Amino acid sequence: MAIEQTFSIIKPDAVARNLIGTINARLEAAGFQIVAMKLIQMSRSDAENFYGEHQGKPFFGPLVEYMTSGPIVVQVLQAENAVLKYREILGATNPENAAAGTIRHDLAESMSRNSAHGSDSLSSAAREIGCFFEQSEIFSK
Ligand code: UDP
Repeated sequence: MAIEQTFSIIKPDAVARNLIGTINARLEAAGFQIVAMKLIQMSRSDAENFYGEHQGKPFFGPLVEYMTSGPIVVQVLQAENAVLKYREILGATNPENAAAGTIRHDLAESMSRNSAHGSDSLSSAAREIGCFFEQSEIFSK
């Protein structure tokens, strides 16, 4: 299997509840190498651009409000099959549907405040990484 990079966000609800270390420990235990990471606060235009595919949906406005409401951790994760592997340990969007043992099942507060983001494809990962990181900020061999 190919070594891939995927993009991750530890969302405002998880940062506010001091879960950065808990989530990073899960990522490392699952075999991900954290090759880039920073604590930032998204601007409104960052969030509208990042979630552009959801523009026009009823949850878009609240999603932008929530994602800009406090600090988040943005990360690049590297592993074999990283995109699918992260979606598996992340769990379904709605924590009520997420499998036991996944990040969202165990930590998320609700469908909207669902603790973490992971890219859904390699092409999304490349786009999303580019929204927040320069190549020089990514420490992969
Ligand atoms: N979201 C929401 N209500 C919905 C669908 C999505 O609040 O009905 C939020 C939720 O935080 C989700 C994000 O919008 O993580 C992006 O939605 P997407 O369908 O891309 O889910 P994901 O890829 O994050 O599982």
